[in-house]
Amino acid sequence: MVDDDSAMRALPRAVDTVIIGAGCAGLALASRLADQGYAQSVLVVDARHGYRDDRTWSFWAPPTHRLSAIVAAAWPTWRFDRGSSAAERADHRVPGLRYQSIRAIDYYRDAQARIAASTAVSLRLGVTVTGVEPARDSGLVPVDGHAARVLVHTSAGTVAARHVVDTRPVSTRATLFQCFVGAEVDHGGALHASPGALDSATAGLMSRMRSDDAGFAFTYVLPLTPTTALVELTRFSVEPLPLDGIARELNDELAELGLADARVVRDESGVLPMGADPVTAHPVPGVVRAGNGGGALRAATGYAFARIHEWADAAAAAMIAGDSPVAHPAEPWVRRQMDRIFLQTLRAHPERTPEFFLRLGQRVAPERLTRFLTDRARASDLLAMILALPFGPFLAQLPDRTATLARRELRAAAPHVATHRAAATPIARPESAPISAPAPSAPRERVA
Ligand SMILES: Cc1cc2nc3c(=O)[nH]c(=O)nc-3n(C[C@H](O)[C@H](O)[C@H](O)COP(=O)(O)OP(=O)(O)OC[C@H]3O[C@@H](n4cnc5c(N)ncnc54)[C@H](O)[C@@H]3O)c2cc1C
Repeated sequence: MVDDDSAMRALPRAVDTVIIGAGCAGLALASRLADQGYAQSVLVVDARHGYRDDRTWSFWAPPTHRLSAIVAAAWPTWRFDRGSSAAERADHRVPGLRYQSIRAIDYYRDAQARIAASTAVSLRLGVTVTGVEPARDSGLVPVDGHAARVLVHTSAGTVAARHVVDTRPVSTRATLFQCFVGAEVDHGGALHASPGALDSATAGLMSRMRSDDAGFAFTYVLPLTPTTALVELTRFSVEPLPLDGIARELNDELAELGLADARVVRDESGVLPMGADPVTAHPVPGVVRAGNGGGALRAATGYAFARIHEWADAAAAAMIAGDSPVAHPAEPWVRRQMDRIFLQTLRAHPERTPEFFLRLGQRVAPERLTRFLTDRARASDLLAMILALPFGPFLAQLPDRTATLARRELRAAAPHVATHRAAATPIARPESAPISAPAPSAPRERVA
């Protein structure tokens, strides 16, 4: 059941599971429980009153998967470049893999439709969680035959639950912050007009990589159709940067790309911590953290979407087997160290960062680099990456300096706040209106 007018209706007194946050992670779990006929009651609450097209999620995957019906665009080739000549770029393809994008609005609608078809799972928007504490009162209503362990306090009342999955963002320190502002533009074909420009089969993952006084920057360019594209100006910074400044840079970048006259149809923005504090167990028994606040963001890349969906598969399977929902798996030691050394080196050498990424793109086989980016690296892949990079700067970063380098994130802002800040710039406001009801949806295939 989906209800976006929660302020008008009381919440149930007790449920089996409360999922706090109906963003990427909360909906990933809720929609699986709905699809797979979880028999116990699940309540998903979110502070937002409606959904809008606030981001684009991109990831590598085979052509067919659980969400392939809502993929907006897919590319067989992805590019790393610091200029337009062949010597300054690397185009990667991996047989059987596509870089793919899903619009947030399609994702939200798809999940809402799956939840609406379930009698056990319900979604309540406009409900802000204000606190979570152990349920000490044994006189509480038992939940589906089990004792409630947690009380979730919200703007619409208190709910007792056996399990709580908390996907709210958390404030964290980080070695670097990935700060970006993007615009989806209708360019009428101008993006592909100049020699060496991206064609519509190629995603520009790290395009026009450069460094300047403010650090390392690149442009992320996703040609969505022959005449539209998502263009994002991204900076790696030791502090979260004001997004208004990046939005101004994006305007300059659009002009550089010959898109000064392109019509902006939507914008998005974010600040992602790279190399965040390790996730600690929630102090309240029965509560697990998930999503970005639960360790979903990959330190070296800022990618989280595919990791969230792998977590949701595991958490739903555990719950359906009668166990508690699981948290994100701990990062394996080798990956943690590789990511740490990599981030420390990028932080120490912003002026050489374009060179480092271009070396990886040009000297490491696409299969190897993609396995690294998607958490599937083998020892030989890591060795190939180490051999592709200059030893000196990376060797100097072997000692763990995270504790002294990391700065505290100024806010644990929901990304729609960031988008609002970006709107103070010449970038046009998004045209997408908030939605309040699930759109009709065809039956979907399950993830393989
Ligand atoms: C603009 C943008 C683009 C991104 N693109 C990619 C990408 O291409 N690929 C990729 O892998 N990753 C990407 N990411 C990173 C990551 O996938 C996303 O941040 C993803 O949304 C994280 O999911 P989440 O569920 O942790 O957080 P969210 O999706 O932000 O969901 C958290 C939810 O909690 C709710 N909430 C917060 N406080 C409360 C409260 N007190 N009570 C109730 N509800 C509350 C919020 O309203 C929100 O709906 C992107 C991030 C951003 C910001």
